[in-house]
Amino acid sequence: MTIEKTLITKHDLEKLATLINVCARLGRDVSGYGMADVNPNSGNVYIWLEDYSTSLYIGLGSENVYALWSCGYCGEEYKMEVTEDTTENEIEEWVSTLDRNDGEHCEDCEVEADDEE
Ligand SMILES: [Zn+2]
Repeated sequence: MTIEKTLITKHDLEKLATLINVCARLGRDVSGYGMADVNPNSGNVYIWLEDYSTSLYIGLGSENVYALWSCGYCGEEYKMEVTEDTTENEIEEWVSTLDRNDGEHCEDCEVEADDEE
């Protein structure tokens, strides 16, 4: 994992430390290809690792950790709060309920122009 140079503020570095701790607790290997960075649009500090289907992030002004899954087809993003009790298996099970076609399609793709959450 590469730590990007845009991660410079104290708050962002503290969030990065939290996210690395969560990776350790979930059993995620951070030595593979991936990156830790801050999203310039949302302010989210995140860790994305190629080996895992979700990234982990902490939002601006928040301390809560979320797992984020993006639909590979439509780009729709889904999030799940990761508490201290959440396991990697629970995250994978959650992803499997979203992922309708080998990581390519989500519920939103199937229901076009649906404004419901
Ligand atoms: Zn989709």
